[in-house]
Order: sequence, then structure tokens, then C-alpha cells
Amino acid sequence: MKQILATLVVSFLLVSCNQPTPQPTASEPMAQAPTAPEYKEGTVAIAIHGGAGWIMRENMDANMEADIAAVLEKAITTGHQILQDGGASMDAVTATIQILENSTYFNAGKGAVFTNDGENELDASVMDGATLNAGAIAGVKRIKNPITLAREVMDNSEHVMMSGAGAEAFAKTRGFEYVDQQYFFDQDRYNALKNVQKDEAAKGNAANYRESSFDPYTRDSKYGTVGCVALDKNGNLAAGTSTGGMTNKRYGRIGDAPIIGAGTYANNKTAAVSCTGHGEYYIRGMVAYDLSAMMEYAGTSLQEASNTIIHEKNPALGGSGGLIALDRAGNYAMDFNTPGMYRAVITTDGEMIIKMYKEEDTE
Ligand code: ASP
Repeated sequence: MKQILATLVVSFLLVSCNQPTPQPTASEPMAQAPTAPEYKEGTVAIAIHGGAGWIMRENMDANMEADIAAVLEKAITTGHQILQDGGASMDAVTATIQILENSTYFNAGKGAVFTNDGENELDASVMDGATLNAGAIAGVKRIKNPITLAREVMDNSEHVMMSGAGAEAFAKTRGFEYVDQQYFFDQDRYNALKNVQKDEAAKGNAANYRESSFDPYTRDSKYGTVGCVALDKNGNLAAGTSTGGMTNKRYGRIGDAPIIGAGTYANNKTAAVSCTGHGEYYIRGMVAYDLSAMMEYAGTSLQEASNTIIHEKNPALGGSGGLIALDRAGNYAMDFNTPGMYRAVITTDGEMIIKMYKEEDTE
């Protein structure tokens, strides 16, 4: 793990949101604020997350840590290569997320968590920062790579969002391969469902949805949603997010991941954003759009907006989780308020950083 970690770019740490603006005097020119990188044509950058949650070094098996790091590296280098070759950020986002969806380590595609009924219901979305086009699917059960179907909705339908059987019928018209639910079966995920249901039964609160042990950040929650944000050589940003949602979800519950503006947003004027966390709070906070709006309307920097949302606004509502975000200059944020978040970035300088735990940001 250590070898693949590189030091954080110091300038990113220098950004501080609450410093009073120094006033210039006749004899003393105003101190220069740390400058963020400027947009440079032809540069590329990409960031991914594999979910926020109870990800702690002391609970992590060394082999598993290496395996997860390897999948993160494969995913991000695949996307980065597409960008280096002049490909579109949207192509990089979908190819990268497919790799994460095909791994059982993440709660998306093959590794999706189980619903209360013991099924898997998948949500995904993409957004193109150049056109503000977007596509999303929710509650699909038989699509191997949900992110590709979200992309298909954006590219080849007049809609932005489709759900359940309707989304699958659309997939059929577009020649998508179906898999049966068995494809998504994973024993650890199933055990997690049983543990959550046992807790719920013990508390006697199964009927009280809001009070049930539904929060994935209390236990059995090492893995999460996946997301990707990318900047291509033409200066276009794109974002995508894919998830199985939350263990023990029921009643056709849909989280933030397929909701444009909540779990995913991209706008060339501001940033590309992908979120992971307790989706209800991300929907209520319109988190991905909120970050963009803070940049657009208040002139807030990307890191400051991310920091305010993740460390102030989201916890104030009672939420937990994280986000990744990238702007056209290659400024990035990978913030979370949980013990860890699987995350990686390849900066505009080509530096790759892969991290899992909170303490790695200060080591
Ligand atoms: N945000 C996802 C949801 O609420 C879950 C996650 O990020 O782990 O569906």
C-alpha cells in the first residue's frame, strides 16, 4: 500500500475557508492567497471512490487491502489511459466504473448489497459537464453494468431517468445482456443482510423504518458505492455513480446515487461530483449540486465547498459519507466524515494517489 501512496500536494492543504481577508495597507501589500491551479488546455485528471464507511486499518486484512488497492488502481489507470489517448471524460467515467462494478469489493454491480427481500436492486447515473445531459436508472435487477444503462438512457432516449422493469425493457430494446440475480450473490453481503435483520428484530423496530438499524455506517459496512469524476483534454468534465444502495432497503427505496444533483452532478463551469454515504441525507442536501452552486454563485473554491458540505452541512442534518469532486483546473477533493473512504486520484501532473483510511490524509 505504502509504495503506491504519494504525498498530498501541499497547496491543496493550504486552502482555508474561514480566514479573514487581510486588508492591504499603504506600506504593506495584501498577502497573496494561495493560488489554485489554472485551467490548462490538454491536461487530464481523474478521481474515483469505492464508498465511504467503517473502513479502518485495524480491521483490514493485508491481502484484502492489497486486492482492493489493485482494483482501484486498475480502474483509475484504465480511465486515465482513455483520457491520455484523447478520449472523452464520459467514456473514461463509464469504463472506470464498470471495472469497479465487476468487483465484489464494492457495493455496485456484482458486489451489490441485498434488499430486505434478499434481492439486489441497482441504481446508477452519469452526467456530462459540457452539455448538462444526464442519464440515470434506479431499482434494476438484471443489468450487469448499471452505469452503461444510465449512459444509454442519456445517449439514446429522450428521458433522464428510468426505473425498475421499465428500465430493463428499455435495456432489452438496446441489446443489453441480462444476468439473473444469482450473478450478484455474494455470501459476505448476504451475511451482512442477515446481521442487520437480526439487529432489527432484536430491537423490535422492524416496522419503524426510520428507527431501524438501516444505517450502513454502524456495522457490516466496509464497502460502498462507486463513483468517478474525470477531466478530458478538451476541458470537459463528467461524473458517474453506481450502487446497490443500502443493505436491508425495502419498499423500492431509491438513494441519492441515481438522482442528478444529489449523488451525481457535472458542469464545466464548476465541477464534476460523485457522492457516497447515507443517501437520504444526500438527497435532502442536494449535495452534488450544492457543491456546484457554491462554486458558481458564491465563488467558493472546490475544496472549500467540499469541506463545508462534508464537515458542516451533511453532519448538521445527521448524515454521513463522502464525496469526490474535480474542477477544470484539476483541483480535486476527496472528503468524508466516516472512518474511511476508498479513493484514488491521478492529478494533472500524472501523480497517482490511492488511499483508504482517514489518517492517510495527515500521514
Ligand atoms: N449513497 C448510497 C445510497 O444511499 C449508499 C452508499 O454510498 O454506500 O444508496
